[in-house]
Amino acid sequence: MMKQTLSVDLHLHSNNSCDSQTTIDEMCQTAIEKGFSVVCFTEHFDMNPKDEGYGYFNFDKYTHDINQARERYNERLTVLKGIEFSEPHLYPREFETMVNRDFDFVLASIHNLEGFGAYWSDPERLKPSYPVKRLFEVYYQEVLKAIRFGGFDSLAHIDYPKRYMPTRYEPISILDNIVDELVERDIALEINGYYSEVNPSNMICDLYEKHGGTIVTTGSDAHRCERIGYNFERVDEVIQHFNFNPVYFVQRKARPVL
Ligand SMILES: [Zn+2]
Ligand SMILES: [Zn+2]
Repeated sequence: MMKQTLSVDLHLHSNNSCDSQTTIDEMCQTAIEKGFSVVCFTEHFDMNPKDEGYGYFNFDKYTHDINQARERYNERLTVLKGIEFSEPHLYPREFETMVNRDFDFVLASIHNLEGFGAYWSDPERLKPSYPVKRLFEVYYQEVLKAIRFGGFDSLAHIDYPKRYMPTRYEPISILDNIVDELVERDIALEINGYYSEVNPSNMICDLYEKHGGTIVTTGSDAHRCERIGYNFERVDEVIQHFNFNPVYFVQRKARPVL
C-alpha cells in the first residue's frame, strides 16, 4: 500500500518556471492519477541577471493558473502555491516583497555562486581550475548565509552541487553550523528525489538528526509530469530511517503529513 508520506509532493515546476514546458493543469491531472493528495508548485524566482530564469516569473499568470487548478480539482487534490527563491539573502528587498504575497510555501535554494561563472548544471561556465573542495566550501558558506537570513519555510536540495560535480566533498564544520541554524530557526530540510541518491546525503541527514532536526518536506523537483513523485520510495526510506516528521505548508503554517 502506498504510504501517506508519498502522497505529498511539495516541489513541482510548471511552465511558470523558465525550465518547464508543462502546464499546472497537466501536472495536477497526473498527480491525481499517481495518487497524490497534496502538491505544491514551487516556481523558480531568480534575481541574478546571469540566471536563465531572470525576469521570467509572472506572478499574475501563476496566480491565475493556480486558481483555475484549485477550482477544477477542488476536492480531489490540494494545490498549494509556492515559490523557489534563489539566493534570498542577496536580494532582501525583492525577497520581502515576494514572500508577502499569498504563498503557501517558500522554498529557498542556492543555484548560483557569484563569481564562479554561474550554473552548476553548466560545468563549462564554472571556473575550471577551481578545486572541487573549495567549490563545495564556498557553496555551503552561501547556504549558511541564506539560512541566517531566513524568512523561508524549507531549504531545497541542500547538497545540490553533487548532482553536477564528478566528485563531492562534505565540509563537516560548515554543515554542522548549517543544520544547527536550520533547527534553531525552525526551517525544514527538504528531502528531494530528483537526483538518484536523493538530496541530502545520509551523512547530512544523520547530522540533522543529531542536532535535533526532525522537520522535513518532500519534493521530487519534477519539471515534467512523469517525474512527479520521482524517487519517493527512497525519500520515504530516508524519512522512516531517521524518524523525520514530514510536513506541508498552508499559508506558511506547517501541518503534519499524517
Ligand atoms: Zn532548485
Ligand atoms: Zn526546483
